[in-house]
Amino acid sequence: MNEIAENIRLLKKELPDNVKLVAVSKTKTIEDIMEAYEAGHRIFGENRVQELLGKYEHVPGDIQWHMIGHLQRNKVKYIAGFIHLIESVDSEKLLREINKEGARAGRTIDCLLQFHIAREETKFGFSVEEARQMIESGVSEELRNVNIRGVMGMATFTEDMDRVRSEFVYLRSVFEELKEGFFQKKDDFCEISMGMSGDYKVALEEGSTMVRIGTAIFGARYCKIDN
Ligand SMILES: *Cc1c(COP(=O)(O)O)cnc(C)c1O
Repeated sequence: MNEIAENIRLLKKELPDNVKLVAVSKTKTIEDIMEAYEAGHRIFGENRVQELLGKYEHVPGDIQWHMIGHLQRNKVKYIAGFIHLIESVDSEKLLREINKEGARAGRTIDCLLQFHIAREETKFGFSVEEARQMIESGVSEELRNVNIRGVMGMATFTEDMDRVRSEFVYLRSVFEELKEGFFQKKDDFCEISMGMSGDYKVALEEGSTMVRIGTAIFGARYCKIDN
């Protein structure tokens, strides 16, 4: 068995049945993706539209692609026809654009709302207040071509696992507040996407339902892409 397949096998053994593994293939090659694919893996994540499109064309159609990086509104149209889940919805304007392009493509596009949970300035995302206001205004009924499935967040990049844990606890509380307040009857509002190679164990302990893992599957990236 090759290394990528072996890494995936070991990770899946560690994950509870209800937790999805997103293999983050940014900067990695089609060959790397195909190694994971041939080992049975189907969920992959990319953070740049251009790179995603370059790969999408060359791999089997049953791959479920997740957009996990900051998405510019003028690029939504390129992925609306096939994207499985947009995890990085960080503004109402973006959600509206996804809805528009979803309608044009004849699809309802699954989305997660990204929350700003890290101390770092550079991470994108809603504040709880912004999200609450947006949802209270009725977007999820109004926008028929998007389906809000849960929340996503990136913890601070630090060795301090107490700090990371507190950010994950916070994201989970945001999820619960939204679930309670707006989505109690919506069974498919159920995803908490948190946890990467360095912190997924903590994320699992704090209730993650979806981990996004690159390095621990594919090895180190040679250029750091900071979305
Ligand atoms: C790159 C990236 C990941 C994966 O990071 P690793 O540390 O390589 O596991 C997860 N989520 C997002 C949003 C990313 O950009």
